[in-house]
Order: sequence, then C-alpha cells, then structure tokens
Amino acid sequence: MTAVRVVIMGPPAAGKRRHSRRLVEHFDVEHVESGALLRENRDVSTAHGRPCDYIERGELVPDPVVNELVRSAIADLDGFVLDGYPRTREQAEFLAGLTTLDVVVFLDVSTEVAVERLLGRRVCDRCGSTCHVTFEPPTTPGRCDDCGGALTRRDDDTPEAVRTRVTEFREKTEPVVDSYRRQGVLEAVDAEDEFEAVADRVREIVDGCR
Ligand code: ADP
Repeated sequence: MTAVRVVIMGPPAAGKRRHSRRLVEHFDVEHVESGALLRENRDVSTAHGRPCDYIERGELVPDPVVNELVRSAIADLDGFVLDGYPRTREQAEFLAGLTTLDVVVFLDVSTEVAVERLLGRRVCDRCGSTCHVTFEPPTTPGRCDDCGGALTRRDDDTPEAVRTRVTEFREKTEPVVDSYRRQGVLEAVDAEDEFEAVADRVREIVDGCR
C-alpha cells in the first residue's frame, strides 16, 4: 500500500501538531512541520532576513525561505503529514509543483477559541508537548506531565503576536483553504470538539482517501 500524503491546515492553536503526531504514528510516515523547521533555522540569515524576526511578530516568514525548507524536507519521502504548510497561495502553487496530495484536512476552530487557546498555551522545552494553564493544567505547575521538562510560553504566544497570527491566517491562509475546497481535496473537521473525537475523525478521513 502506498504511503499517505496529507496536509493539515488550521488557524493557530487548532491542534495541528498534536493531530499530526497521531497521524504519523498511525500511518507510519514522516511529520514535516513548517513552524518547527523555521524555529530550527530561526537565526539563519537569508536574503529576506532571519526567520525569528517574523516569527516573534507573528508574521508569516517569506515564501522563498519556507518553500526551500519544505522542498528539501519532503524531497526523499514517500509519505508525509505536512503540518502548517502551505499558508499562502504562492506556497500552495509551489507545493503542487513538488508532489501530489491524497487529502487536505482542515481543523476548524473559531477565532475566539484560537486566541483563548494560544494565550494560555505552554510548551515543554524538552519534548514539545503542549498544555493549557486553564483547560489542561499540568499536575505540577510549570512541569510537563509527559516528561517532567520545563513548561514555557512560546515567544509568539504574546497578545500582539497572537493578533497578527490570526489576521495572517484570515487574510493569507483562508484563501488557500477555499481553493483546496473548490478542488475537492479538502475535508473539514470541527476541531473545537474533544481531542480524541477529533483524532478519530481525522484518522477516518485519511483512511478513506487511501
Ligand atoms: P501556529 O500554527 O500555532 O501559529 P506554527 O508553529 O505552525 O504555529 O507557526 C509558527 C510561526 O512560524 C508562524 O506564525 C510563522 O511566523 C512561521 N511559519 C510557520 N509555517 C509557515 C509557513 N508555511 N509560511 C510562513 N511562515 C510560517
């Protein structure tokens, strides 16, 4: 059976990373996360400046920088879960020239829920797990339930950066979502539901497109 090629889209804090992790385990493919690739290269100077300058403000990193990172990350892969990319029309066109997709899963959450989740989100600096100070508080304050690592707030989970990220999503990424919907490759899931219910639905969708 061929390996699946899936894109996961959604506004900030829709749960892209957690659902992607579930999928890569289940379908045994690679997780390619544009946000993580950019954070790993945050201080690298490019013709467009350093990724960290954009990330900290909540702005999208310029297309050529992201396109190149994703191109080399998926170059030798049979299957993948591509998380957080494409986010602009230019990125979607670039991706279409690189590979075919089985399905695009859209994790749908309202702006209000996204903002609430982002402002209370904490990330483990060791294993990358996330929790929420109110909705999903850690057993020991400041410590990751999974590995005991320190929980910190991401640089771009500040109120100003959060506002910009949500606006960037509405202005630049929603047109990409609409375009995939028109092409008939998009499956939307209500991602405000409980995590396990959403995860089941996402797995069924990906299973159904094989
Ligand atoms: P979230 O979806 O919660 O905002 P990500 O880790 O996916 O988290 O993205 C964090 C930041 O990384 C974005 O705000 C943006 O600055 C940058 N980034 C990630 N993916 C892309 C992309 N495809 N194009 C441009 N910038 C990106």
